[in-house]
Amino acid sequence: KIKQIAIYGKGGIGKSTTTSNISAALSNAGYKVMQFGCDPKSDSTDTLRGGKYIPTVLDTLREKNAVKAHEVIHQGFNGIYCVEAGGPAPGVGCAGRGIITAVQLFKQQRVFEELDLDYVIYDVLGDVVCGGFAVPIREGIAEHVFTVSSADFMAVYAANNLFKGIKKYSNAGGALLGGVIANSINAPYAKEIIDDFVEKTNTKVVEYIPRSVTVTQSELQGKTTIEAAPDSEQAKIYTSLAEKIINHTESRVPSPLEVEELREWASKWADHLLAFETGEVGLNAVG
Ligand code: ADP
Ligand code: SF4
Ligand code: MG
Repeated sequence: KIKQIAIYGKGGIGKSTTTSNISAALSNAGYKVMQFGCDPKSDSTDTLRGGKYIPTVLDTLREKNAVKAHEVIHQGFNGIYCVEAGGPAPGVGCAGRGIITAVQLFKQQRVFEELDLDYVIYDVLGDVVCGGFAVPIREGIAEHVFTVSSADFMAVYAANNLFKGIKKYSNAGGALLGGVIANSINAPYAKEIIDDFVEKTNTKVVEYIPRSVTVTQSELQGKTTIEAAPDSEQAKIYTSLAEKIINHTESRVPSPLEVEELREWASKWADHLLAFETGEVGLNAVG
């Protein structure tokens, strides 16, 4: 049975990098994968295809009325099917509509069945969880949602907003949360911050991914780390993450913090880090 997964997170946090490495690792494990970029930036699948341009669904639809699915599906590394939903014309239309339109097109043409896919992974911008970007959660498209977050407050804030969106649609058959993919976790306190946040919101960390120059080098070659540096430590971490996603079955409703609670939580950490930096205290989670 096909498994559909949505990966959310704030812009620039590492969604596309992480998603592409997951896709690459899944395909190495023998699965048939489609990566579906739902960011109007349309660069989700770049490192699967050496950075080569592919026409987006929305651009193609603007040029002609009847689009055949194969015109917007292009194979990359290991035969992974790459799709970019694309964005609306600047200043008009809704980016979220693009996601619905693209998914409807594929449903009508029975693309997922015909390609006999095991996984469809949606890479979704999550700075705002407006009606548009909530589409993969809301419309019964994805079954499991993961969010990429660092320990930075703005990333945690975006994750918390996503939790609110998931909670809201959870009674109406919406997708539930699989967990948090903690990215760029190197600083001594970054892990503690994320661990504390997931505990407070009744969720869990699926994988801790360090910031690594191997990722930068791979990206500069237009490749995922799985492809460019398969024997690296970083590739092992992405492979381990993909295995956890393969074995993942139970997602849950998260418990987002209210805005005031989140601020209070952040200021506790601010005090704690200040004390840590001045050497007043050792490192242990704030209560
Ligand atoms: P998003 O899709 O969330 O906007 P990207 O995946 O495009 O973010 O990542 C933004 C930048 O951060 C890219 O240049 C990417 O190579 C880099 N990056 C992401 N994760 C890591 C990591 N773990 N180590 C090193 N660089 C990373
Ligand atoms: Fe933009 Fe979201 Fe509004 Fe659509 S719903 S127009 S994506 S803000
Ligand atoms: Mg991206």
